[in-house]
Amino acid sequence: MPIPTELVGSLPRPMKLQEAYADYDEGRITFEQLQAEQDAAAEDSIKRLEETGEPVVTDGEQRESSFATYPITDTLAGTGLADNLAGDGQFFAIFDDGHHRQLPRLTGGPFRYKTFASEFVEKNKQLASRDVKQAVISPSMMMLLYPLEEELEGYSREQFLDDVCDEVERDIRQCFDAGAVRVSIDFTEGRLANKNDSRNPWTGKDMLQEFIDLNNRVLDRFSPEERKNIGIHTCPGGDCDSVHSKEVPYEKLLSKMFQLNAGYFLIQCASEDDKESVYKLVGEHSRDDANGVPQVCFMGVIDPLSPEVETPEQVKDDLVKAAKYIPVERLGATDDCGFSPFSRDVKPKHGSPDFARDIAMQKISARIEGARLASEELGV
Ligand SMILES: [Zn+2]
Repeated sequence: MPIPTELVGSLPRPMKLQEAYADYDEGRITFEQLQAEQDAAAEDSIKRLEETGEPVVTDGEQRESSFATYPITDTLAGTGLADNLAGDGQFFAIFDDGHHRQLPRLTGGPFRYKTFASEFVEKNKQLASRDVKQAVISPSMMMLLYPLEEELEGYSREQFLDDVCDEVERDIRQCFDAGAVRVSIDFTEGRLANKNDSRNPWTGKDMLQEFIDLNNRVLDRFSPEERKNIGIHTCPGGDCDSVHSKEVPYEKLLSKMFQLNAGYFLIQCASEDDKESVYKLVGEHSRDDANGVPQVCFMGVIDPLSPEVETPEQVKDDLVKAAKYIPVERLGATDDCGFSPFSRDVKPKHGSPDFARDIAMQKISARIEGARLASEELGV
């Protein structure tokens, strides 16, 4: 079988859509008007991804406030926040360029999603002529909505985590029911968990094992057959062309991440200084049998934060090298991250989000062609 290839999920939102989000926050347009812009951008994303030859497409997350907050708020400014949440939670991440992203704060129970990702899948199925995938957020990211130290009155951390697991399970199941062939879980907080950033207390609490155990509580509710198509995405962040945890030694994460009983992984690698050591770690730690399912490792061969377009030959060379360490039947190709995980992102290194969409399509084409060339060279 040729080396499979898959995108993480997001694409830059066109400037017109970003302006519509801002207009909606200011009360200048209605939610229906915002949705019309979202739908137009989603349709354009799907059409253009299909033109690149991408085998499994997404809407580029054009209808989502962000990869992490789509279930609980309509916009990043907090318009349409779900029940029992306030806007002033802890930092999710502080990025290298100095900007930060903040999470809402849970004020009481019960915790419930207001939007499930299956809503997007249903719409995208109508638009796509190829298979559709959907990225969802992890239980471990939702865990950060609960105050770090205190216990909420009348709603224990334990009760909250039970509710989180139920909501995430439902989110994934509904995506499959709506026709998604693949569902990947974003796990960018995995590498950040060892950052020890004093400005951001949760990153100093050594929470990685807790994250993994919580996420496995949900994964273990699915059969091996289902988990074949449930993935985990890891990266050092990707927002406004900046990262949040690239300096954290990758080994800290990669030595533990494959404890997750997922069937595939979308692993940032193209932007690493020493890619070969990443292939080696992935080869060493990924498993042939994760409770009944082999772990297919999609290695990042494209850097979505850089406007420089990779060539298919570069992609091919990376994959051929990766195959020295990772069994080729468990090797795939992906991008290091989504191209724009947050809805407000002007892609500063690219000059504009509209131009960054064009660049993204060129990069995706290079990934697909490079994977084809590598498959040829490796005889698979
Ligand atoms: Zn990412």
